[in-house]
Order: sequence, then C-alpha cells, then structure tokens
Amino acid sequence: MHEVSIMEEAVRLAVDAAKSSGADRVTHLRLRVGALSGVVPDALRFAFDVVCRGTLAEGASLEIEPVAAASWCPVCRSEFAGTDFFNECPGCHKVCGELQRGREIEIATVETN
Ligand SMILES: [Zn+2]
Repeated sequence: MHEVSIMEEAVRLAVDAAKSSGADRVTHLRLRVGALSGVVPDALRFAFDVVCRGTLAEGASLEIEPVAAASWCPVCRSEFAGTDFFNECPGCHKVCGELQRGREIEIATVETN
C-alpha cells in the first residue's frame, strides 16, 4: 500500500529529528497533504499506528492538514483554485498548467519530548 511507505518515510524522518535534537520520543506529527496528492488521509492514519510501533514515535498523535489545490496565473499575478489537468485562470482565461499547491505530502511539524 502506497500510504504505508509514505508513512514509514515520514515517521523515519520524525524519529531522526527527535534523535538529532536529543529527545526521547516523538509526541506529535503534523503532515500537510495536498488534495491531489493521491493519498487517502484515513489510510495514512491507519498506517501511522502500524509503522510507529516499536519506534520513538510510538504513542504519538498525528494531525493531517489538508491543502487545497491551487494554480498561479503569471498574468494576473494571483492564485486560483486548481484541478488536476487544465487550470484556466478565472480572470484572464489563460490556461496555466502549473499547480502551485495540491500535490504535496510533507511534514509540517514534529514535536518531541
Ligand atoms: Zn489570469
């Protein structure tokens, strides 16, 4: 399952961060998950409990911050709601292919103790 390997990586990074700061455990992990990232938050939560077992992150809480998809129009210099493929600016109707946000899966915060 895709979510398990993502969570393994996130927990590994969180545990590394705890170790390098001299902490004994990870108490809280916050992830930013884009609307178009293709991962299911519930599956991430489930995977989190499994991959934390036996690590410094065992018993930590998980928070998932959803990130809405957004595209950027260089003409209007403004951001607008994006979709997966064609992102047409509502202001000038230029099609801007670049998504500004919405595909990320990243660690926002790691709290340690
Ligand atoms: Zn525009």
